[in-house]
Amino acid sequence: MRKLFVAGNWKMNLDREQSLVLAGQLRSEAGGLEDITVAVCPPFVYLKGIADVLKDTGIGVGGQNMHTESSGAFTGEVSGGMLRDAGCEYVIIGHSERRHIFGESDEFIAEKVKKALSEGLKPIVCVGETLEQRKNEETQKTVSRQFESALQYVDKDDMAAVTIAYEPVWAIGTGRTATPQQADDVHALIRSLAGDFFDPEVAEGLIIQYGGSVKPENAADLLGKENVDGALVGGASLTAADFLQIIEAGRTNAKS
Ligand code: PEP
Repeated sequence: MRKLFVAGNWKMNLDREQSLVLAGQLRSEAGGLEDITVAVCPPFVYLKGIADVLKDTGIGVGGQNMHTESSGAFTGEVSGGMLRDAGCEYVIIGHSERRHIFGESDEFIAEKVKKALSEGLKPIVCVGETLEQRKNEETQKTVSRQFESALQYVDKDDMAAVTIAYEPVWAIGTGRTATPQQADDVHALIRSLAGDFFDPEVAEGLIIQYGGSVKPENAADLLGKENVDGALVGGASLTAADFLQIIEAGRTNAKS
């Protein structure tokens, strides 16, 4: 059985108290986690505290970003080793907000993916087209370029640790969700790229999350699609009840 993977990206939200309350609710209310992989990605400063609360629950913790270097004069940055130290198993890399607001290039993202793996972190690598690119029918070209670039330094044997998140930029935080069919079409493309770039076994085992306004109301339909293996959830991961319902939708859609 292929496990689905639901991750929450808290972005720059919640204060310390609210973060701990949310993690505590997930700790006490999330059940049946043997059938699904779950993680939350809080802001850096709360990572250690949240990792402590979620210890031994089966809910993993991830960073939202990391630098390509292990240490040095990089004011404001955090290394992969530091994330590990804070209790992280995962790290989001190449989120569209990093690409578009902070100007991260495909090459920088590729270096981060390589470094994350060498630090023993499991990268969640985000790809996705802008609205303009979709209107210009450049979705396939954009996603293919981002995928091939991000994974250019990854060995086939390391791909089991990699998750891809397809996040159409026009659907992130907008309330506008890709239809299940739109998501499945791009996920199928990503799976075939993985087959060509690595091999069919990698393609088959690859977890491809959908991200972009996933909510309790649309999660079951999205996760029911053949190629949709989970969700990267922003806004709805900030409320325990909503995130738990999305996890539940994932559990009932576990793929065989
Ligand atoms: C995200 O930031 O990864 C995301 C998908 O956000 P939202 O669910 O709020 O659209």
